[in-house]
Amino acid sequence: MLADTAPQVGPAERDSVPAPKRVFIKTFGCQMNVYDSERMSEALAAEGYVETSEPAEADLAILNTCHIREKAAEKVYSDLGRLRDVKRERAESGKETLITVAGCVAQAEGEEIVRRAPVVDLVLGPQSYHRLPELLARLRGGETALVETVFPDEDKFQALPARRAPKAVSAFLTVQEGCDKFCTFCVVPYTRGMEYSRPVAALVAEARRLVDRGVAEITLLGQNVNGYHGEGPDGEATTLAGLIHHLAAIDGLQRIRYTTSHPRDMSDDLIQAHAQEEKLMPYLHLPFQAGADRVLAAMNRKHTAAEYLDLIGRIRAARPDIALSTDIIVGFPGETEADFEATVALVQEANFAHAFSFKYSARPGTPASTMDGQVPEPVKRARLARLQAVIDAGYQRFNGTFVGRTLPVLFEKAGRHEGQLVGRSPYLQLVHAEADPALVGEIVDVEIRSAGANSLSGVICG
Ligand code: SAM
Ligand code: SF4
Repeated sequence: MLADTAPQVGPAERDSVPAPKRVFIKTFGCQMNVYDSERMSEALAAEGYVETSEPAEADLAILNTCHIREKAAEKVYSDLGRLRDVKRERAESGKETLITVAGCVAQAEGEEIVRRAPVVDLVLGPQSYHRLPELLARLRGGETALVETVFPDEDKFQALPARRAPKAVSAFLTVQEGCDKFCTFCVVPYTRGMEYSRPVAALVAEARRLVDRGVAEITLLGQNVNGYHGEGPDGEATTLAGLIHHLAAIDGLQRIRYTTSHPRDMSDDLIQAHAQEEKLMPYLHLPFQAGADRVLAAMNRKHTAAEYLDLIGRIRAARPDIALSTDIIVGFPGETEADFEATVALVQEANFAHAFSFKYSARPGTPASTMDGQVPEPVKRARLARLQAVIDAGYQRFNGTFVGRTLPVLFEKAGRHEGQLVGRSPYLQLVHAEADPALVGEIVDVEIRSAGANSLSGVICG
C-alpha cells in the first residue's frame, strides 16, 4: 500500500527539496487492521511521509499487529529482531529510525513490549491512531518508550484526516469496532473495547469520497458488524440493513459486502436486505465455531447448532443463491472426539462455499485459557487436518458448479500472466480472464471455463 501523495518535484527543484520522510507499515491479521493501516498512512501523508516497502529506507517503521492467536502475536517479536538490525545499520550512517508497535498486541501487552524489545519507541493501541503525529513529535522532542493504550474519550475516526486513499476498485470501510459478546476464547473485547458504531452520515460521506476516487465495491467492516447501531439521519439508532440501504443510494457504488457477522445479530431486516438490495452481494461470512452444543455453550456463543442451521435456512430462503462461509475452532478445551465429529457433520450439512478453520490458541486473560481439558497439540493438529480436507472438498465442489456458467466479474487488477486481469465474482471467488487493462473497475460478464483450488478462469462474453 503506497500513498499517492509524494510531493511532485520538477527536475530543476530536485536538488533543493529535502527527501520526504519514509514510513514502512507491515500489517498483520484481519481486514480491520488493513483499514487502520490505510488510515495511519493517510494521517502520516499529511505530515509529509510517503510509504516504502523497504524497511531499510524507513524513518518510521510500524508493525500493525494481531493478537487473536499466539502465533500471530509471536511473529511481531521476530520482526522486531529484524528491525533492530535495520535501526542499528541506519544509525551507523547517521539516520534515525523510529519503531512503532500498533494494533492489538500493542493494546494487550502495552509496557511489556518495550521491556521485551527495548528497540521499540512507541506502543500504540488501536483506538489512538489519530494521535500518531503528536506522539512522533514527542519522540523527536526527546521522550522515549511511549506507551499509548488508554481508550481515549474522543472519536479517532472524527479526528483522523478525511480519506484520501489511493485509487482502488474495492475498499474497506470500518463501520463498527469492538465487541461486547465475550466469547470465552477471544481477545477482541479486551483489545478493541466495547462495541462502537460510527454515525450513518460520516459513513455515507466517507463512502462517497471513496466512490469519487474510483471505488466500485465497499466492504463494511466490524468485529461484530451486524451488531451495527450507528446514529441515523433522524438521530435514532440505525441497523446494518438501514446503513446498507443508505449506502446503496450512492451513484457509482456498485457492490456492497460486510464482514464479520455474529449469528445472534442476524436480524430479519438484514436477511431481507439480501432479498431486496441488488447492490448487496450474495455472500455472507457467518462464523459458527463449533458443532457441539456443549462446546458452543462453553464458548459463550449463545446459540445452538440447530439454531445456526435454522438461521442459514432462513437466509437461503431469502436469497437462494447466497454463498456462505464460516470460521471454526478445533480443540477448544474439553472438546471430545464426538464433539469434533459434530463439527464435521455441521460443515457437511451446512454446505458452506468456504470456511476458515483454526486450532484453538489459549490467549492470556480469556476465560477459556484456564479451563480444564486443554486439548494436546497433536490432537488439535490431526483434527484440523481432517476438517480442512472436508472444507477443501466443499470449496472445490462449490467452485465446480460454476463451470459453464456466466458470472459478472468486477475486475480489480492485472493478473499474474501477461494480458490477464483478475477480479471477483458476486460470491467473492477470484476470477481470471484475458482482458483489456481498461476493464479494471468494470463489471464484465465472464463465462467460466475451469475451476481451480482457489480461483476460477474464464473468457469474457462477446
Ligand atoms: N466476530 C467474529 C465472530 O463472531 O465469530 C470473529 C472475529 S475473530 C477476529 C476471527 C476468528 O478467529 C474467529 O471467528 C475465530 O474462529 C478465530 N479465533 C478467535 N479467537 C481464537 C482463539 N483463541 N484460538 C483460535 N481461533 C480463534
Ligand atoms: Fe470475538 Fe467475535 Fe466472539 Fe466478539 S463475537 S468475542 S469478536 S469471536
